[in-house]
Amino acid sequence: MRLFRRSSARTVDPVSTSSAPTSTVSPAVLPGEEFAALRSRLHGRIRLPFEEGWDAARTPWQLVVDQRPAAVVEAADIEDVALTVREARRLGLAVAPQSTGHGAGTLDASGAILLRTRGLTGITVDPDSATARAGAGATAGALAAAAQDHGLTAVLGMAPTVGVVGMILGGGLGWFARSHGLAANSVTAIEGVDATGATVRADATRQPDLFWAARGGEAPIIVTALELSLHRTGDLQAGALVWPIEATDQVVRAWGAWIADLPETVTSLVRVLRYPPIPEIPEPLRGRDFVAVEAALQAGPPATAELLAPLRAMNPMIDTVHPMAPVELAAVHGDPPDPVPAAGSSVLLGEISPKALDAFIAAALAEPSGALLSIELRHLGGALAPGRAGGGAVSDIGGEGLVYCVGMIAAPPMAGAVSTAAAAVSTALAPFAAPRIVKNFAERPADPTALYGTATDRLRGVIASWDPDGLIRAGHPLGAVRG
Ligand SMILES: Cc1cc2nc3c(=O)[nH]c(=O)nc-3n(C[C@H](O)[C@H](O)[C@H](O)COP(=O)(O)OP(=O)(O)OC[C@H]3O[C@@H](n4cnc5c(N)ncnc54)[C@H](O)[C@@H]3O)c2cc1C
Repeated sequence: MRLFRRSSARTVDPVSTSSAPTSTVSPAVLPGEEFAALRSRLHGRIRLPFEEGWDAARTPWQLVVDQRPAAVVEAADIEDVALTVREARRLGLAVAPQSTGHGAGTLDASGAILLRTRGLTGITVDPDSATARAGAGATAGALAAAAQDHGLTAVLGMAPTVGVVGMILGGGLGWFARSHGLAANSVTAIEGVDATGATVRADATRQPDLFWAARGGEAPIIVTALELSLHRTGDLQAGALVWPIEATDQVVRAWGAWIADLPETVTSLVRVLRYPPIPEIPEPLRGRDFVAVEAALQAGPPATAELLAPLRAMNPMIDTVHPMAPVELAAVHGDPPDPVPAAGSSVLLGEISPKALDAFIAAALAEPSGALLSIELRHLGGALAPGRAGGGAVSDIGGEGLVYCVGMIAAPPMAGAVSTAAAAVSTALAPFAAPRIVKNFAERPADPTALYGTATDRLRGVIASWDPDGLIRAGHPLGAVRG
């Protein structure tokens, strides 16, 4: 279910978009002079704080994050990436790679060259080997569409606007999670530019440590492209069943019983949606709250009808489950299509126990905060379970459920209410938390051991060997950080 109507969030933007220059350039030199060599040789563009277009260039998809880099390079190709790294080294600056900026809350770009790779959008699909190659600017939606043109499907996260590279570096949890595991497990090779400016390719046999680190961990290089295996999809039905919020207790408990013996071909979540009575919310939803089950079932119509019967018996007011092509999955969770100011918080549950469900229901039904909130519980397990896949820094998730509360900050005064509500949900679920955090759902830099577990030390070693002085800044930094 869509949280927001298209572009309504643009009416409010807590990021400073002032056109006033915010120069971080040393006053000892003419502003911008040190970037002259880079500017003259780039195929793409460089933007400096005093230039037109600066705010658009530095603003990430996640609008609550106010990025203040020294410069923004919008790379047009791999040569631009290599040139930027070499120039950054010469100038003593760090490089912070970013594609869309969905994960901007975890990246410190201050004083660095923010290297935006969103221009590297190329995607090719080889139908014979069922593989794809995606540039570092490719989005999940574009990859899904390209794969579908050949009757193939990529394992991705749920949101189509997310960048493939950032999503893979965080694991990637989507509609095929219980049948195919994390998206990172389908990566077969990565290519990029290392901290010296040299190009590098890593796969299972070449640079295996780097290949391992990039799958669910951290890439101590600027990734320029990924290669992934695709799969053939059979029958697929997906959509949402929606009830008024008064049914929350019944629906959440019924969902909890329903997931207990589902096949791995079904991935689902239950969520409570709270829409405050504000003009930014479209009329049919304004001031109304709902509980919904969203599901993707790799099954034909008869099997789907049988599987959904216990949920449909509760008479949902809306039922959108229907046969679909994989590319249509992008609409099922209703992620906002445009950049938004949002804040969220997550808890990985060891088990979806009756007591955990009690806590989830109580937290989701708390007094309305006045914020636009989605409080969801994703069903994990299946191919995500430990021991089912390996080979990457993080290849599995040791927990049965993921609680994620996210709120759109539809108007600046709402920011406090959103953060407070998200924190309250996490606090309520904390007694049921597994020891780990799911990286793609950690919106601020998190404890490395909670993110990577026993892989943490090896990851640090790989990063130290590829980028000993921390030229490349990553979200959730683990290695040395250059000033
Ligand atoms: C609305 C929304 C819905 C989401 N839904 C899901 C979901 O269903 N499943 C899921 O798994 N995740 C989901 N996410 C989380 C998302 O996958 C992460 O935020 C991910 O990091 C986004 O990748 P990006 O490239 O779009 O973002 P960016 O902010 O551009 O990148 C994130 C990080 O990846 C690294 N990175 C990016 N590009 C490069 C590069 N070229 N070279 C080296 N490092 C690079 C950097 O460290 C960067 O800080 C969602 C996020 C949002 C905001």
